[in-house]
Amino acid sequence: MPTIVVLGAGVSGLTCALELAKQGGHEITVVAKHMPGDYDIEYTSPWAGANVLPMALDKDSRWERRTWPVLRRLAKEVPEAGLHVQTARVLRREKDVATGLKAALADGLFQFDPWYKEVMDNFREIPANELPKGMHSGCEFMSVCINTAIYLPWLVGQCAKYGVQFKRGIVKHISQAHNLSHTGKKADIVVNATGVLACKLGGVMDKTVYPARGQIVVVRNEAKGFMPTSSGCDDADDEIMYVMQRALGGGTILGGTYMRHNWDPNPDPNIAVRIMKRAVEAHPELTDGKGIEALSIIRHGVGLRPAREGGVRIEKEKIDGTWVVHNYGHAGWGYQGSYGCAEKVVELVDEIVKQEKRQSKL
Ligand code: FAD
Repeated sequence: MPTIVVLGAGVSGLTCALELAKQGGHEITVVAKHMPGDYDIEYTSPWAGANVLPMALDKDSRWERRTWPVLRRLAKEVPEAGLHVQTARVLRREKDVATGLKAALADGLFQFDPWYKEVMDNFREIPANELPKGMHSGCEFMSVCINTAIYLPWLVGQCAKYGVQFKRGIVKHISQAHNLSHTGKKADIVVNATGVLACKLGGVMDKTVYPARGQIVVVRNEAKGFMPTSSGCDDADDEIMYVMQRALGGGTILGGTYMRHNWDPNPDPNIAVRIMKRAVEAHPELTDGKGIEALSIIRHGVGLRPAREGGVRIEKEKIDGTWVVHNYGHAGWGYQGSYGCAEKVVELVDEIVKQEKRQSKL
């Protein structure tokens, strides 16, 4: 039976472990420095909103297309997973459209006539008479919001149900992970799901990986059913606006920032004020029109999205004689692409197992 070590217990590593375990026929150990329940600047997943706002361009949309049906089913049929259905409202500002949508067009979310209109349920263009002031156009569709504080432990529980074992561990070099299987045997395959730390991990040292710093404010106020986001804001080019209410009492996330190459773990109080102002302006129902003073703050937070020049890396590679399947560099879409990426990881693991069986090594 092939022995697999999954290095990393963020949404990427846990989803891979779960999908591999569901297949059966593997002995799987998840090894990680940080596990669900931890809050650390080196561990991105707990900080995410998280919701589904498709970001890929059509050519790269496999990960999000394949993930959406799974997240939708979890939201509708598995309440204990910590997801709920919410309406996403995507708005293009007049000034961004006039200037070619600026950087927003780099992702697919704000494109006109987007590919995801065929995929996301209840998609509709927002009629002009329903648009907020200053908005050129926009769309709405059914999405979900994930309470990461519930969903990540739920994933751990699902993995455990299928026999996955968990171990804390820090590796300096990817080849050390081969020796950390709970079976005591050397792992045949290591899945590398180390997120932004892939740029510092020996044997990988991917210098194209960098942090895209996201600062958020979590509040008790309710966002009452819809999740707005807009194509830009006037405050700064690396600041953005989004609001999403988490399931099961997880509070409402106000975002945010997208600060490339910025590792600062500390919330900036000036940015926090701007985030709150933008959120209340876009969603006055948050405080019943009473402004940011009426926000009840649970905490300020910062997470580092694992961005990568050239996009996500999902491929197999032999390092020091052992197979590694990489799955890192998901930037701001790690949840909404998680099952699509895990599906590809399962395919690559299958390829390796078949190839090695042919050579009678497994
Ligand atoms: P991580 O969660 O960082 O996990 C990495 C794991 O690897 C950890 O367990 C870590 O301990 C382990 N590890 C790393 N190096 C080592 C080592 N050397 N030895 C042992 N263990 C190691 N995505 C969405 O889909 N929707 C959203 O709405 C959304 N909103 C976001 C908002 C913010 C503010 C932020 C910061 C991110 C958001 N994201 C969102 C992006 C999403 O959070 C990330 O893409 C995703 O969490 C990345 O997960 P990961 O498992 O790859 O990395």
